Amino acid sequence: MVDKKEKGKKNTSERWKKYVIKGDTIERTAKFCPRCGAGIFLAESKNKDRRYCGKCHYTDFTR
Ligand SMILES: [Zn+2]
Repeated sequence: MVDKKEKGKKNTSERWKKYVIKGDTIERTAKFCPRCGAGIFLAESKNKDRRYCGKCHYTDFTR
């Protein structure tokens, strides 16, 4: 597990937080919704203990 600190992260545009840039590679941080299938991302909650689908309201607990 990676324990990274977050500072000054604003909560403005949830839908564009699906990608994290590490060096010169782009890593997808979001998971697809198991109900809606590929293409529908799960949004991560603020404290990152769960992921949430805005379409079908599926919630995935990550802890
Ligand atoms: Zn869904």
